[in-house]
Amino acid sequence: MPTRVYLDGTVVPPEEARVSVFDRGFLYGDSVFEVLRTFGGRPFALGDHLDRLGRSAAGLRLPPPPRPGIEAAVRGTLAAAGNAESYVRVLVTRGAGPIGLDPALSDRPTLIVIVRELELPDPRLYRDGAELALVSVLRNHPRALDPAIKSGNYLNNILALDEARRRGAYEALLRDADGFITEGSSSNLFVVTGGGLLTPPLRAGILDGITRRHLMDLARARAMAVEERALRPPDLQGAEEAFITSSIRSVLPVTRVDGAAVGGGRPGPITLELARAYDEHARETAA
Ligand code: PMP
Repeated sequence: MPTRVYLDGTVVPPEEARVSVFDRGFLYGDSVFEVLRTFGGRPFALGDHLDRLGRSAAGLRLPPPPRPGIEAAVRGTLAAAGNAESYVRVLVTRGAGPIGLDPALSDRPTLIVIVRELELPDPRLYRDGAELALVSVLRNHPRALDPAIKSGNYLNNILALDEARRRGAYEALLRDADGFITEGSSSNLFVVTGGGLLTPPLRAGILDGITRRHLMDLARARAMAVEERALRPPDLQGAEEAFITSSIRSVLPVTRVDGAAVGGGRPGPITLELARAYDEHARETAA
C-alpha cells in the first residue's frame, strides 16, 4: 500500500522525498510534529492536532507555515496515497541554513507530511493487555525542553522506550525527579480507581494528549468521575484497571507493570467500555 510524502509543495513517492543534511530538523531535532490517523479514511481530530502543532511551534519560537496550507497538504497527501486507513505524520522543521545553534540561521521552515498505510499494534496486546516498565530515565523537566512541546527531539523518550524493551515491556512509564508518574514514551496513562478515572495533570510535565482529552470528555459524558491527580507508582500497582492512550493505539489496556499484574492481569470492563466508546466517537466525528 502506498506511502506518499508532501515536501516543498509537491507529493512524491518515499524514495523521492529527500531533505537537506543542513536541515535543522536533521541536525538538532529543531522541529515540531504531529501524528494522527484516519477513521473511515478521514483524519480524526485534525483541528486539535494542528492547534497543538501551533502551540509546539510557538514554544520553540518557530514560525509555522500557514494553517490552511498544512491542512491542504494533509488532505492532498491522503488523497494521493489512497489507503483505506492511513497514518499521518506532519512535521515542520526550522529549515536549512548554515551550521550553528542560532535559530536565526534559518528563516524558511520545511513542511513535510508523511502518509502511509495504518498499522495498528498486535491485536494480542488489546486482548491480553500491555506491560509497562517504570524506567530509570526521567521525563524532562518542564523548564528544560517542556514535554508539552511535541518537538522532533525525542531522545529522552527513545532512551526510555529502549530501557523498557530491554526489560521485556511494551511501553515505558516515565517519572519526574520527585517520583511522580508523568506519561509513557509515546502515550498518556490512566488508572481506574473506585470506578472513576485518574490521570496525571498537565502540570506533571506531560504532552497534552489529544486521545487523553477526548477520552476524559467521553468518560464525563458517561457520568464517570474523572480526576487529574498526581500519581505515584503504588496508585498504578494497586489500581482496579489501567490503560494508555495515543492517537495510533487509541485505548490500550495495561495489565502488568514491571512483571506484576495490575487489575487481576486482565483488561478491565471500564477500559473495554471506554475503548469501544472511543472508537465509535472517532468514527463518528472524523471529518
Ligand atoms: N505522550 C507522548 C510523549 C507522546 O509522544 C504521545 C503521542 N503523540 C502521547 C503522549 C499521546 O498523545 P496523542 O493522544 O495526542 O497521540
